Amino acid sequence: MKTVSSLLDGEWYERYKRISKLYIRSSIYDVTNRCNLRCKGCFFFSSGEDRVAVEEYDTGKWEAFVDREKARGVNLAILIGGEPTLCLDRVEAFYKRVPTFCATNGQIKLPRDRFPDLMVGISLWGDQADEKVLRGKDTFAVSSKNYSGDPNAYYLYTITPRQIGKTEGIIKKIQDAGLKVHMQLLSNDEGVDGFSWRPQELQAIRDEMDAALDAYPDTVISSKYYHEIITTGEMMGRAFGWNECPSVTEPLDRRNPQPKRLIHFIRWASDLSTMHRCCTSETRDCSTCKDGAAHISWVMVNKRAHIRTPKDLQNWIEVYEMFAKLYQLIPW
Ligand code: SF4
Ligand code: SF4
Repeated sequence: MKTVSSLLDGEWYERYKRISKLYIRSSIYDVTNRCNLRCKGCFFFSSGEDRVAVEEYDTGKWEAFVDREKARGVNLAILIGGEPTLCLDRVEAFYKRVPTFCATNGQIKLPRDRFPDLMVGISLWGDQADEKVLRGKDTFAVSSKNYSGDPNAYYLYTITPRQIGKTEGIIKKIQDAGLKVHMQLLSNDEGVDGFSWRPQELQAIRDEMDAALDAYPDTVISSKYYHEIITTGEMMGRAFGWNECPSVTEPLDRRNPQPKRLIHFIRWASDLSTMHRCCTSETRDCSTCKDGAAHISWVMVNKRAHIRTPKDLQNWIEVYEMFAKLYQLIPW
């Protein structure tokens, strides 16, 4: 029988042991229904998730809620929105109680005296031209000033089909700002012309992502297996989609048979009681879903399938390590 130890040499086995101790139990929280931007293609606003619940304004209720989440076993709180930095007391309610990650558009600087080591993922949707079309402004100009050289921040670079041939320039800009970058792909939930992926574009961007990782290994947090999975939507001959997705809110998950999934995962709305279907858009057609976190989790929960060849298991370890780095669970 194939086992983990029979497939790995000493160095890989040590890497495996380091991540196998983590027991990650994550959930996602909408901190607010408001944002200081309105990006075209924002899954939150385009799916009406900002309107399904009235946000809770009482910080004491947020604190009690986080205590309950901790008691439920959550050991990684991923804060999204809306824009979490509009509600720092709520961010603090998490930060003081549980390991926390905060997604932001970077337009408001998180006060580092209050949140010294809170890991921040700054969204970036391409170069100046794309950002102006999709987000109404060049967000990088502001976010790079706010977070330049910050050791607890990185860019979450959402690549669009128009970025083909331009990604290296963006990664260089991020490197020059003294920051790291993780890449994901736009799902174009609002059908903006020219921003939906075609098969040949996905192949081209996969090659470009691989080249970026080779050329900027200290700046790019990624893995080639992740590039393969996210661009093809396939893992070991299986297609990503509703039947396979690991990031469905557990109490709402009626799928039969149940796929491998994130244990106790819930995506909570900002009223602290409503649950959303999954980690991303409530209304997205799963066959078009390019959500990076869902694809990463898909690999992570399917360890057993990767206990097949040394390369398969190493691929799994690299994806797991990438996730752990992005949430500061292991060093960069
Ligand atoms: S910054 Fe984020 S939450 Fe705000 S509109 Fe853009 S994608 Fe949506
Ligand atoms: S939209 Fe994406 S993340 Fe949500 S259930 Fe469908 S495949 Fe999963």
